[in-house]
Amino acid sequence: MEDSDNVYYDPSGRFSLSGLLIMFSVALGAGVLLGGVYGVLVYLSPVGILNLFAMCWMAWLVGKIVGRGTLLGKVRNRWLYGLGGLLAGLATIWAAWVCWAYFFSSDFGPGVLDLNPVAIWNYIVYIAENAEWRFFGFDQPVNGIPMYILWGLEASLVVGVVYVVSMLYMSDKLFCERCNCWVTERIKLPRLDPPQDESMIEAVQNRDISGILTLPAYTTGDKHIQVELLKCQKCQELYAAHVFLMARPKRKDDKAKFMPVRGAANLRLTLEEYQTLLEFKGVAPTPAPSPAV
Ligand SMILES: [Zn+2]
Repeated sequence: MEDSDNVYYDPSGRFSLSGLLIMFSVALGAGVLLGGVYGVLVYLSPVGILNLFAMCWMAWLVGKIVGRGTLLGKVRNRWLYGLGGLLAGLATIWAAWVCWAYFFSSDFGPGVLDLNPVAIWNYIVYIAENAEWRFFGFDQPVNGIPMYILWGLEASLVVGVVYVVSMLYMSDKLFCERCNCWVTERIKLPRLDPPQDESMIEAVQNRDISGILTLPAYTTGDKHIQVELLKCQKCQELYAAHVFLMARPKRKDDKAKFMPVRGAANLRLTLEEYQTLLEFKGVAPTPAPSPAV
């Protein structure tokens, strides 16, 4: 079952039917609900930069909820939770159009609430060909192809963000097949200074962690090494680490956020390696010979 020779933890691919049902219900529910809210928002404020932010934020939130649903349903199959993310993205777009079309059509008579995607598509075509849209800075009203392009971009962005966020959410989650639970015990070590020679990171990617044990504790700078340790809280037999070189853009105020640049996620560890890293706080930094510039 679990192949301890593997360098990296991989989801086992397992799932249960009830778990799938839970995951898809949560994913589709979130898409329909938040997509509907977004549709109403676009109806109230048809064109604006705020819509773009609202759309990305909404898609990001749906993606996170898909991830939560995947945890809840204990689905350890990449294809299936990927499918959950895709379907949730499509449900979001569908619900947004259904709600928008309902409110938009109510401006001209009794509102048309049609859940059928084909009917919605026909309505989109009708609106695109017949309505005239005005945008900032353009005197000329537009319809037809520019609208299809714009809406196509909107739909791809929503589906793309939901999918990517849900996959990223799952990318550092470990499941212990022995205990049938997600690993929740996670410990972040104090930051370490980055190595002079970044080939150390390649070594870590090949599961040689010895280089980490030579690094001094992080003091200052725009880069550091972050090590996060994971172990199964029940059987204490599944050990892993995320090791990343973190960097931030150079800014005067030092407030820029550190983001992972390269490294290794879900690196399998032995108990000894886990213990060694857990106790390692960085070798004492050598005092700087010259004053800071
Ligand atoms: Zn376990």
